[in-house]
This record gives sequence, C-alpha cells and structure tokens, in this order.
Amino acid sequence: MSAEATPAEGPPAELAPLRLDGESIVGAGGVFRPERFGGLAYSRECDRFYAMDTKSFRAMRSFTQPTCPAPAGHGESSFVGEFAQRPIPDRPMVVNCLVTAYCPLRCRYCHADDLMGPFRAGESDDDLDRIVRTAELVPAMVAVITGGDPIVRPDRAIHVIERLAESKALVLDTSGAGDIGPLLPAMKAHNVHLRVSLDAASASPNDEVRPIDRRHLPLGTSSHAQALETIRRARRADVRTTVQTVVTSRNEHEAELLRLHDLLVDLGVRHWALHVMVNAGRGAQPRSRRLRPSGESLARLPATVDRLRLEGSPVHVRITRTDQQPNAVILVNNRGDLYAERGGAMGKVKIGSAESSASEIEKAFRATIDLAAHADRYLMRRPATLGRHGDRAAQE
Ligand code: SF4
Repeated sequence: MSAEATPAEGPPAELAPLRLDGESIVGAGGVFRPERFGGLAYSRECDRFYAMDTKSFRAMRSFTQPTCPAPAGHGESSFVGEFAQRPIPDRPMVVNCLVTAYCPLRCRYCHADDLMGPFRAGESDDDLDRIVRTAELVPAMVAVITGGDPIVRPDRAIHVIERLAESKALVLDTSGAGDIGPLLPAMKAHNVHLRVSLDAASASPNDEVRPIDRRHLPLGTSSHAQALETIRRARRADVRTTVQTVVTSRNEHEAELLRLHDLLVDLGVRHWALHVMVNAGRGAQPRSRRLRPSGESLARLPATVDRLRLEGSPVHVRITRTDQQPNAVILVNNRGDLYAERGGAMGKVKIGSAESSASEIEKAFRATIDLAAHADRYLMRRPATLGRHGDRAAQE
C-alpha cells in the first residue's frame, strides 16, 4: 500500500461508500474500518495493518485491494498521513481464536500454555459454535486461528474458518509440524494468510528451542524439517505465507538471522516477522533465562533489517514490540470463553463466557482491554522514521 493514495474517481464496484462511523468493509484484498482519526486498513497479502488519517483513508477508496509496501518500504511505519494525536481505534483490531488446546511442540518460550494444558481434557466439537459465536461478538477486523496448533485439529480449524470468513479477515498460525494438506483448500478459498514458525536456517538451533511433544510426533521428528515442508506446500498451493521467528539467544546474532533470511528467499517467502522472546509463560521460567536475547543484539536488530532493505532484499521484514503490555491481547479459548492477556508472568484472565450476551462481551472488552496498547501491538512504528507520515504523533 502506498502512502500516496490516488484520488478516487468513485468507489469501485465491490466497495460500498464509506461512512466514517461505519462498520468494517471486508473485501478480497483486505478489511477497511472507519475510525475517528480516519480509518484502519488490513492487507491480507502481507498480514499488516495501516492507520490512516481521514484524507488518506478516503483516498483508499481508489484501491480494491490493500497491497503491501514495495520492498523499499521495509520497516516503514504503519501510519499514513498526519495525526494531531496518537491514533487509537475505537474497537479491537484482532481477536485470537484457540481452535484447539493441543500442540505437537513444547517450545521453551511458549506463553500459551495456561490456555492449553488445563483445557485439553474433554475438548469437544460442541465447543466450535461457542468459539465462533464469541469471536463474532468481538468487533475485530482480523481473527487469528491459532491454538495449540490448528494443524493437529484441521477439522476444527476448517469449521471456524468457514464460519468467520465473511465477517473478518483470517490468519492461521501453525508450527508447521504436521500435515497442512487438509487445511490448504479452505485457506485458499477464504484468503487465509498462513504464518509458520521457524527460528533458524539449520535444524539444530531450531529443534533445541522448539522440541516435539512425543505424544503427537514420533521420536526423531524435526520441527525444523516439518516447518520447511509446510512452507513449501503452502507456496506450491499459492497460499500467502509469513514466516515467524522468535528471537532468542540461540539465533540473535546477525549472521544466524541472515542465514535464515537467505533460506526464506530460496523458499520464495516474502514476509518475515521477528518476535523478540517475551518474559512470560515457559519463557519466564528460570530454566529459560539463558534463552533471552541480549540487549546488545536487540539494539542491533533494526540495523540488520535496514541492511537487508538497502541490499534490495525481496523479503518484507517486521520486528514486533519487545515488551508485553498488559491487556493488549484478546483471546477466545477452545471452549469459546473470552480472555485478556495480562502480560508478563500474570497470564490470562477470563473476561467473558460463551454464554455472554453481545452487550456483556462489549462491556467486558471495553472495561479490560487497553485499546492504545492493543493498537501498539499491531501497528508498527520505528524510531528511525520518526517525523515521517505521522510517526511523530504516534511516538508520543
Ligand atoms: S507451537 Fe506455539 S503453542 Fe505450540 S508450544 Fe510452540 S509456542 Fe506454544
């Protein structure tokens, strides 16, 4: 998506006229939603949000599909236009739906454990309608189909994809450790963006931090090899794919990250998200202390991304925030109950149930979710671009 939007000659056929107090418009390329500061756009192509001022958002009517920035736009801000103050959306942007509490891996930095272990026993298909109902009542633009790992329960994931696809753009998160085949037709049919986790170019540093759970996979299975195979199959099926990498002490050095970058280029992956390991869940346990990346490496990370841009890499790279702000993340567990992530070691707190009414769900997220922190999590900002396209206001 270009910051220089072309003036509209009239709305394209597939888009209804915009009302600034209106609901989301879900299109083939993405989702648009008017906000008091202008509007939000989400691109399915690159799994990325943009916050636009009113002028830029109106001009977006000339696009039928929000597209990704050109490769030269690596690391650019998510803010398009001029903002008198920090743009904070009125409603949530993302709701995470745990379609299963089962996962084939036992990652050493996992912080979803508190919504998995206690909820595995008795996981039932009767819960699927409850998950869908609660997710529909959260007025988010994007639903992330996650777990656990949807790859181990494809039937459950497909059910939720088919029910939510009309009202939200969808993303599916997976370790890739399993058979992605059953999921690909539904993902393709509903424009679902796939995110696969891969932490290193070679198997050993990846498999050390992302070991298999032997209840799901045979001894000797490499999570690295499985993720590579999943990426290759998704690419062959023409499913848009982002690779997600958790930055730890095992892969924090530039040489290691550049090796992984080169592998992604070879695989044809064009979107790469670098998440810095957070101090939560298993990552907060004393035995994981040595996995935390050094401050020095984290400080160098933006320069590594800039270097890739300057060298003309075809891969769009983004770095997510390194801290976990409380009450920034909204989750629906595998029973259809609504949770907020408290951040750090505090885990999740239940704020609604599958039996809650629409007004109770709205009251719950308005009382609990910090929409400024929520937006910070999903809108990228870079000190290096301070002062361009409204970043100054966004940094305040
Ligand atoms: S794949 Fe995700 S949910 Fe599963 S153990 Fe790893 S981090 Fe946790």
